[in-house]
Amino acid sequence: VKKKASKYEKLAQPVKQTAVLGAGIMGGGIAYQSASKGTPILMKDIKDEAIELGLKESRKLFAKQVERKKLTSEQMAEKLTNIRPTLSYGDFGNVDLVVEAVVENPKVKGAVLSEVEEMVGENTILTSNTSTISINRLAQNLKRPENFCGMHFFNPVHRMPLVEVIRGEKTSDAAVAATVAYARAMGKTPIVVNDCPGFLVNRVLFPYFGGFSFLVEQGADFQRVDKVMEKFGWPMGPAYLLDVVGMDTAVHANDVMAEGFPVRMAREGKTAIQVMYENERLGQKNAKGFYAYE
Ligand code: NAD
Repeated sequence: VKKKASKYEKLAQPVKQTAVLGAGIMGGGIAYQSASKGTPILMKDIKDEAIELGLKESRKLFAKQVERKKLTSEQMAEKLTNIRPTLSYGDFGNVDLVVEAVVENPKVKGAVLSEVEEMVGENTILTSNTSTISINRLAQNLKRPENFCGMHFFNPVHRMPLVEVIRGEKTSDAAVAATVAYARAMGKTPIVVNDCPGFLVNRVLFPYFGGFSFLVEQGADFQRVDKVMEKFGWPMGPAYLLDVVGMDTAVHANDVMAEGFPVRMAREGKTAIQVMYENERLGQKNAKGFYAYE
């Protein structure tokens, strides 16, 4: 798979200025990682509070680097200037590559992608950080689907090395190349994968979440399951991982997977994860999920 990614590198156009749509868990993390590795990034959201939170998270991560003496305070200040928060598309004309990281909803994502396509140059690469929604589906209403592909980061962005670059039917080699190059510039390990709901990693991960949910519905103690899976060798158990991912994102992503693979993924009745979501136990993002947070 690595070979496949490097094959595209020769074709890459320079990616000097980027933008991320959404300043949430993922958008904020993508902005931090890009800024940290030296590629300037506009961070756009529709809510001021979201931008504030995204910036706060970046400041916290940079401050940790200063504490560990990996950065000086001056370097931290300089790197922070690589993130330009905004509520408008004002400066999108000069952006080489956009990562869309808004909520996991095909309608919202489709509308946001069409909107940003009008604001950027003809050669700008558009990417989506969708967890599960097919790239061909998201490309349907785009005028330049050849400039569009998936760029799927994992959470937390600064710690997870993998990035799935998802090639849609109409995606050009140049778009894949630029996205692979940007992922590498961010210090990540890109893999190029074909398009389907859930791509590669989430086709493995979501059935696992489903299995965990079923166990809990049958009366298993989630903390015990977490401990067992840690002993099995995973860095964290499924309940904790769901708290990190966010119950809203997990439910929306699972719906997309169930629509794409009804025989394997669709379930009768409510899952434990859905019940958590309906009770607004979203995970770390609102400080209560399977576990409680400060
Ligand atoms: P989140 O809820 O933390 O953040 C979403 C942000 O998008 C919010 O700040 C919201 O205000 C903003 N937003 C909504 N509409 C917008 C618009 N029109 N323009 C700009 N901003 C807008 O969600 P998240 O967990 O960061 O997930 C974002 C995307 O990343 C989803 O597609 C999700 O599936 C994907 N993803 C999530 C994870 C994860 O573990 N949470 C991992 C990989 C990929």
